[in-house]
Amino acid sequence: MARALRRVLVVVAVAAVASSVSYATDAPRSRRETGQSPPNGTQVGAPDANGVVHITVPVDLTLVGKSTLTDADRARIRGREYEMNNAIGGLENFSNYKYKACDGNSLTFDVKVKLTALPDSDGPEAVPGEGHHFIQMVDDPEQYTFTNIYDPDKMAANGGQGDSTIDSTKPYDGWTDGTWEWNVGYWGWVHEVGHLLGLGDDYVFKGTDENGDPIPVPLIRDGSNRQGTLMDTAPLRWGVRVHLGYDQELIDRVGKLLDKAGKLPSCWQGTIESDSHRTYVYSDGGGAQCDDHWHGEIAFVAKAGGTVTGKGKLTLTSGPTCSGQIDPAYIVPTREIDFSVSGNKQKAGFILVLGELAFRPPVPAASWAGITTLVSTGLTASGPPLTIPNTGPCTAGGTVATSYTINSDTFTASNVFALKCKGN
Ligand SMILES: [Zn+2]
Repeated sequence: MARALRRVLVVVAVAAVASSVSYATDAPRSRRETGQSPPNGTQVGAPDANGVVHITVPVDLTLVGKSTLTDADRARIRGREYEMNNAIGGLENFSNYKYKACDGNSLTFDVKVKLTALPDSDGPEAVPGEGHHFIQMVDDPEQYTFTNIYDPDKMAANGGQGDSTIDSTKPYDGWTDGTWEWNVGYWGWVHEVGHLLGLGDDYVFKGTDENGDPIPVPLIRDGSNRQGTLMDTAPLRWGVRVHLGYDQELIDRVGKLLDKAGKLPSCWQGTIESDSHRTYVYSDGGGAQCDDHWHGEIAFVAKAGGTVTGKGKLTLTSGPTCSGQIDPAYIVPTREIDFSVSGNKQKAGFILVLGELAFRPPVPAASWAGITTLVSTGLTASGPPLTIPNTGPCTAGGTVATSYTINSDTFTASNVFALKCKGN
């Protein structure tokens, strides 16, 4: 009974288990321990023209106990890969669901598993490929099946403990490892691929049965019972363990993870508070100064490659307040400015360029009054590149100074940006 139950338990363990994992070769372990930045594990392409996001999960399997591989070993792994891809990619499953991206486009995730068999030896042929997930395959029903997700953020959020139910973007940042047991069958392995897509378990353990084995209980997640999903343990139906596979919630969770990992277009919005100051120097030696304040609303989409497109509006909220020799006709203020947003998203934040689109009322021909330095450098219809650093995983902001000079007149502004991504 204990034996039978263990066969169906599919566990993801976090960090704590890592020390008990024995490695077939030291090479990948030292790669992790040297702290080298690992290349991507689960690979994600940009959405194609049909809105299909191609996801490849490369898994190198060390066949524990097999110092050399036979054609039969390789054929066995190829057969399992075939079964898994049928299970994942069949119309009944993953690709049957759409994910609505923040820009309104519907995306389909096309997931392919790539299994490669490796011998259990010290030779170079046993070293997993760069960025491939590295799993030990055992053929022993007494062994648990698990995938390690090393996620310090996840652990910190849980008092330093691993929590297998929390979704994580880590598999998109680097490779991970674990142990998969052959006899859990291909659905059990597909569950593990769920972990390699960042999905947490839809069950927890509560108590133990008469054999001392922990009892898995389906999770209630956001009010919905997760019993029987791919990330639950397989329920028993007519004496057979069956997985019900995917549902919309799983696809939405994967979408959110891809979004967080920067693999999908991300949608941003926020505000700009701009204090602008103008100094006019007249040819007769006289001059004037004006101050005004602008409130801006900005919204844009950052594509997976980083390109930013969007628009916004600046509204005059106070001023202009002028002093000196000033002709009121000269300072007829523009009260609203529509602007375009371009630029790109980088690792540390945004480089944005705002460009003027329209003014209301139109600027008097002889006047620069009311034009902020954000959207124009005086003679060109776009402002300077604005560097706006990240302030969190889904926020960016800070104060950006802008200025330009035309003849002897100077225009300066202090602009406070507060940006956040949608869904956070
Ligand atoms: Zn699991």
